[in-house]
Amino acid sequence: MAERFNVVVIGGGPGGYAAAIRCAQKGASVALVEKDEMGGTCLNRGCIPSKALLGSVHFMTLARHAKLMGVEVGQITPNWTAMQKRKDAIVAGFRSGVSGLLRSNKVKVFEGRGIVPAAGQVRVDGPDGGSTVACDKIILATGSAPIQIGAFPYDGQTIISSTEALSLPAVPASMVIIGGGVIGCEMACVYAAMGCTVTIVEALPQVLPTEDDWVGALMAKELKKLGITCLTGGKVTGVDTSDQGAVVHVESHADIPAEKVLVAVGRRACCDSETVQALGLDMNGPVVKVNRRMETSAPGVYAIGDLVGTTYLAHGAFAEAEVAAANATGGNEEMQDYSLIPRAVYTFPEVASVGKNEKACAAERRQVVVGSAPFRTNGRSVCHNENVGEVRVIRDKATDRVVGVTMVGAVVTEMTAAARALLGSREPIERVCFAHPTVSEVLKEAWEDAFGISLHVPPRR
Ligand SMILES: Cc1cc2nc3c(=O)[nH]c(=O)nc-3n(C[C@H](O)[C@H](O)[C@H](O)COP(=O)(O)OP(=O)(O)OC[C@H]3O[C@@H](n4cnc5c(N)ncnc54)[C@H](O)[C@@H]3O)c2cc1C
Repeated sequence: MAERFNVVVIGGGPGGYAAAIRCAQKGASVALVEKDEMGGTCLNRGCIPSKALLGSVHFMTLARHAKLMGVEVGQITPNWTAMQKRKDAIVAGFRSGVSGLLRSNKVKVFEGRGIVPAAGQVRVDGPDGGSTVACDKIILATGSAPIQIGAFPYDGQTIISSTEALSLPAVPASMVIIGGGVIGCEMACVYAAMGCTVTIVEALPQVLPTEDDWVGALMAKELKKLGITCLTGGKVTGVDTSDQGAVVHVESHADIPAEKVLVAVGRRACCDSETVQALGLDMNGPVVKVNRRMETSAPGVYAIGDLVGTTYLAHGAFAEAEVAAANATGGNEEMQDYSLIPRAVYTFPEVASVGKNEKACAAERRQVVVGSAPFRTNGRSVCHNENVGEVRVIRDKATDRVVGVTMVGAVVTEMTAAARALLGSREPIERVCFAHPTVSEVLKEAWEDAFGISLHVPPRR
């Protein structure tokens, strides 16, 4: 007889492993099916390896500024191979940590591809053949993969995705990055810092196109300081490859030669067609359609994370995992407002935002007041020689509530929870005492400016 579980989760990325552990903590018997490495995209070819490399090159950049800080150091010599080894060790450490967590929460892990042939059944096609388990509920968390462009598909050597870009054996002399979104800009920072000549080609009028115009303009200026060329409004029409590398053709622009071409134009949900068909799942274009309880159209089947195309963020998957796990174990929860899930970009400087930005407010025809405060007048930022950028706080005039915060600057990704706390009415925040000197004081300055009561920003006329 087939082994039986209360819940089977398919996919061991941040959405899947978080859902499995939460279900187990709520007393359910749980199995998790993973066909590749535990930890999914985030741990193995996304958040963590990219931040490990960004951490190394950030450290190198700080070291290069040592003299300015009054510290004499010898020659700074980056060692890409050592950086790669460090990154791999970090990933391996966290990967065994996730497996250990699943074990200690008594989640049974099956290695192999999980397919749902019918409600209440999951078939595992594993290295040792196939087996089928029975279950009451299923949580699909099969994630996403890089979007491929038909006219210039990945060859894994010259035309690469973010997966290969994280593990290149050597730093190329030149790289064209197609797509100036989060992944494109983060990888540009890594390779430019390592001495590679980087050109970003972005079809829309600004890099980081989903952020406000001022963020795109400021980021383009800072990327330029790192030696990165940003070609915005540029449409790539083709890529020719040869033994020497590639030539990238851009509409109304001279061809750009490059040793590597990184295509970073977004990600696409990995929906198992057999499962989709067997369950007759309703789709929303390429992603699985869910309601706010993370329920699919098939009773007892939930879907979360990149598979449902809501945030394409690990912490978005975590948040959805909490809701699906609660509902799969007898609870009754709904996803919060998605705009409250913070967005974070780990470029130099970083970008972070939560709530609505100015573009969204304009689209909704909201009358707003935008308060701002720069890092150049923040004590801690100046002392640390990391004083580029500013914070903007958006107040809705009609409700007198803060509806969004956008920040560009060093370590702003660490301030998203504090920025989230600013959303809403003014009373609870007015009395919060920020330690001095701290980087986060900029948040309070911008917040005060939005209400016209700033201590350090001159009053508006
Ligand atoms: C370069 C890069 C950098 C990123 N940086 C960040 C960041 O800094 N912050 C952030 O929040 N997000 C970041 N992301 C996005 C983040 O990685 C994803 O949003 C997140 O991993 C999605 O989690 P998930 O659980 O939905 O899917 P995934 O992490 O993709 O996991 C899905 C898992 O399911 C498995 N699977 C698929 N099909 C099956 C099947 N049929 N049977 C069994 N297993 C299956 C896969 O092998 C995979 O392990 C980054 C992504 C990339 C590519």
